[in-house]
Amino acid sequence: MAETSGPFECDACGETVSLNEARRTKTMGGLDPAKWQTLCCPSCGARLQTIYVGE
Ligand SMILES: [Zn+2]
Repeated sequence: MAETSGPFECDACGETVSLNEARRTKTMGGLDPAKWQTLCCPSCGARLQTIYVGE
């Protein structure tokens, strides 16, 4: 849990995005959306990191 608390740095635009600011989308590749979410940059939409949100 500590490893996914952010902030995350966007490789595409250089923005530093906190966990609350990041856009959350479903993961690509068929992972369970109830357990995994992909964080995207709110500025440019690039993927930041895939995080585990299940229990
Ligand atoms: Zn970005």
